[in-house]
Amino acid sequence: MITPFDDAYFMRKAYQEAELAFEEGEIPIGAVIVVADRIIARAHNLTERLNDVTAHAEMQAITSAANFIGGKYLKDCTLYVTIEPCQMCGGALFWSQIGRIVYGARDEQRGCIALGTKLHPKTILNGGVMERECSELLQRFFKERRKTN
Ligand SMILES: [Zn+2]
Repeated sequence: MITPFDDAYFMRKAYQEAELAFEEGEIPIGAVIVVADRIIARAHNLTERLNDVTAHAEMQAITSAANFIGGKYLKDCTLYVTIEPCQMCGGALFWSQIGRIVYGARDEQRGCIALGTKLHPKTILNGGVMERECSELLQRFFKERRKTN
């Protein structure tokens, strides 16, 4: 059975956020948070615009989703993010008690898996959805940035 609301569908939405970041000269990482097949938060990396190293897509999505829900815990939510969360975001996701995390591509250097960041024991972690596209967008960004610098 084909459901319109599967992981690929929501990762596509997160990817669109990453594309927005790309256009704005931000490192292209995007995220959405979903509850009961409904997107309640969309965000992309804004570290340049805000001059804030904590302005990762996931951090903003967490805040925005909690505002939407009117509570700080995201137990029934799924986060879709184009690149595996870093230690900071992994830590914030721990505190949010998020139900599930789905990432696109791994970050072998700074990702929470590589660095052994502890997620909440109830958080399910899945990955590899649109892996190639998510990773290519990031690589293209750095390639173009090297050209202009
Ligand atoms: Zn992060």
